[in-house]
Parts: sequence; C-alpha cells; structure tokens
Amino acid sequence: MGEKEKKLRFDTKLIHGGTSPGPSGATKTPIVQASAFAYDTAEELEDIFRGRAVGQVYTRIGNPTVDTLEKRLAAIEDGIAAVATSSGMAAITTSVMAVVRSGDEVLSSSSLFGGTYSLFHVTLANFGIETRFVDPVDLAAVEAGINDKTRLIFVETIGNPKMDVPDIAAFAAIAKKHGIPLMVDATVSTPYLARSKELGADIVVHSTSKYINGTANSIGGAIIDAGSFNWQSPKFPHFEQFFRKYRSFAFTARVRKLIHKDFGACAAPLNSFLLGEGLETLALRMERHCSNALQVARFLQAHEKVTWVNYPGLDDSPFYEVAKRQFNGRFGGLLTFGLTDKAAAFRVINNLRLAKNLANIGDTKTLVIHPASTICADYTPEVKALMGVSEEQVRVSVGIEDIEDILEDFAAALEEA
Ligand SMILES: *Cc1c(COP(=O)(O)O)cnc(C)c1O
Repeated sequence: MGEKEKKLRFDTKLIHGGTSPGPSGATKTPIVQASAFAYDTAEELEDIFRGRAVGQVYTRIGNPTVDTLEKRLAAIEDGIAAVATSSGMAAITTSVMAVVRSGDEVLSSSSLFGGTYSLFHVTLANFGIETRFVDPVDLAAVEAGINDKTRLIFVETIGNPKMDVPDIAAFAAIAKKHGIPLMVDATVSTPYLARSKELGADIVVHSTSKYINGTANSIGGAIIDAGSFNWQSPKFPHFEQFFRKYRSFAFTARVRKLIHKDFGACAAPLNSFLLGEGLETLALRMERHCSNALQVARFLQAHEKVTWVNYPGLDDSPFYEVAKRQFNGRFGGLLTFGLTDKAAAFRVINNLRLAKNLANIGDTKTLVIHPASTICADYTPEVKALMGVSEEQVRVSVGIEDIEDILEDFAAALEEA
C-alpha cells in the first residue's frame, strides 16, 4: 500500500494496514503451515543467508503468515518494524534481553503484570541484570532511579491490577534526557486507546493474547520498533555492528538476527492468522469494552455492598485526568472493586453466572478473578501492597455482552452475597 497507507485512519488501518493480497486474489492471509522453505540452487540459499537476497528460510526465523501479522502490527503502531513472538512474555523477555547485558540495570514501574515482575525480580537478577522498581506516578522517583548502569526504562500504560495510569509522555521526556530507551507494555490500553509512539515510546510490546486476539483462542506477543531511539551511543556498544549496517533498524536487527533467533520464542503461523483476524475488529470491540466497563464501574460504585471501585474512567479516580488526555477520553475494559473482605469477594465470584472466573483479560466474555489468591498469590504482603493487590479485591475484565445482562449478573451476585 506504501504512501497511500499513511493516510488511512486508525480503524481502517486495523483492517487494511500492512496487508497484501493472497494467491488467486484471496482476501485472507494464507496460513503457511510449513517449517522450512526450499530453493532450487545452492547459490540462492547462500544469497539469503548472506543477506544479499530476501527470502524465507525456516519458520523460527520467519514465515509468510507471521510476516503479514508483523507488517500489520507495525502499521497500526506506526512503527518501522515489528516482531511477532509466541506470547506476551516472550515479547518482553526477547526485547529486554536485546537491550540489556549482565551488569546493566532496568528501571521499571513497580505496577507490573505478574510475569514481568517475576522476570525482572528473579530471572534477570539471576543473570546479573538488576531492576529498580519505582512508583510510576512519582516522576521525581523515576528520575532519581536512573544511574550510570541504567539501560532501559519499562512501564505499562495501565497497571494491572493497580489500575494506575502513568504519564507516558513524561516518562519519555525523562528517558530522552538520559539517552535511555523507553519500552512500553501497551497490552491493557491496546493501540486503540494509546498511540504509544506518539507518546514517546521507543519500543512497544504487547501480549496479543488479550484484546488484539479478542476471543481468547491464541497466545501471542509483539515487539514494535518505533525507530525513534538513537542506538549509536556509548551506552550501547553491543548495538554498534547493528547500527553500522541497519541504522535506525538497529534494534529490530539485533532482536531478529540474534536474540529472537537464539531464544526461539517464535510465533506460530496458525496463531498469527487468528491474531490477525482479531486485529480487524479491535476498534469496535474496544469501543464496547470501554463503554460497558464505565457502566459497570458506575453501577458498582453506587452499590451498598461495594466498598470501593478503581477504574480510571470514574471522575474521582486520581488517574482520570491523565487517562482522559492520554487515551482520548477512553479508559479501557479493566476495573477492580472491593467488598468487605476475602470471603465476600469469593461469594460474589461464586454467585456470578455470566462472568467467568479465570486468569485472563481482553476476551469478548466478561471475566473475573480474585488476584490475591491466584495470579498474585506468590507475592509477599509488601509486594502485594506495592502492586495494589488486596484480599477484598475482585478484578473484572468487562466483556462486550449486552450491558443489561452484565449488570443483572453483578446485581444478582451482590444481592446473594
Ligand atoms: C498477559 C500480559 C502479559 C503476558 O502475556 P502472555 O501472552 O500471557 O505471555 C504481559 N503484559 C501484560 C500487561 C499482560 O496483561
């Protein structure tokens, strides 16, 4: 589509951006369920390995179906390139490992998805990569957390389950001032709410398993290179060879030609097809997720058995203003609320008929979970407090069902609790 594509609006780009016609005019990306790709001559394959010609070799390195998904994701995030991975955690691990080396430090928001917290706190620490955790709302603490060893700043657009909304543009300004790349996990906001590159993210990561897939039928992840960071820096000598050859594509080149290839957390062709199907309806679904979530939040706030509601779209939320500005008046599909105690939270979850009790977000279906006893059960009480996890808390990923059915489900569940 080239130049013409740039003029497309976001909702149209979800459907047409980065796509190319399939064989015989097929309007769908073919699922190339193949591990390897054959060439007639030894010379052709040598040319591809040497980088003198472009071609598929082996699905861990590249696959036409995965390639199409990558082009589409790059188009909707306005990135220069994207790499699809087997999961959101694979995207985070691969992209972080591409930036940092042993002895380096990561400065991360303390309000994190559980897997990312574990990666930083335990796994990377075991490889000599320390992470400093800071409250993402306290920008003075963010800046004070940077030192000579800091090589990456990591933040989520909406903390889960804390529901805090950091000011991404302010983070970007700090990162830029110190010559450190900003990596943003935009899973919870999705590209529909936040244009991460415009806000100043250098690298955007997603768990595409959630809202992008939208119907909970495949796990996937994505790394999008905004092309904005200057990797020709004494802080990043390990990017030198990639910068020399690939210039602004140095990050993607290091990911693709080294870290992603070596770790091997590649996306599967069938999953990439399904994720691409989900992408087409992202805007429509998010619109409904957002409007339903706001109505659920208001309903819960007015309910006598509910002690508190945390949703950035409520105008008494401390994050209302920044979320409104950053997300263009939309606030996402995720909220948390409190009952009197854990037993009451369990009763409400057990009473719900429509909402499913499971560990996921971003499905068409309304989902609930008690974070303290499940996804955050391994945290110490101090970490739970830091992450905004409490015993009386229920997290809701509001689905796109008819709002009346969702509200009736919660009304009945609270009534009986
Ligand atoms: C789910 C999630 C991840 C991890 O993604 P997987 O696809 O489950 O590996 C990372 N970040 C956030 C914010 C998530 O919600």
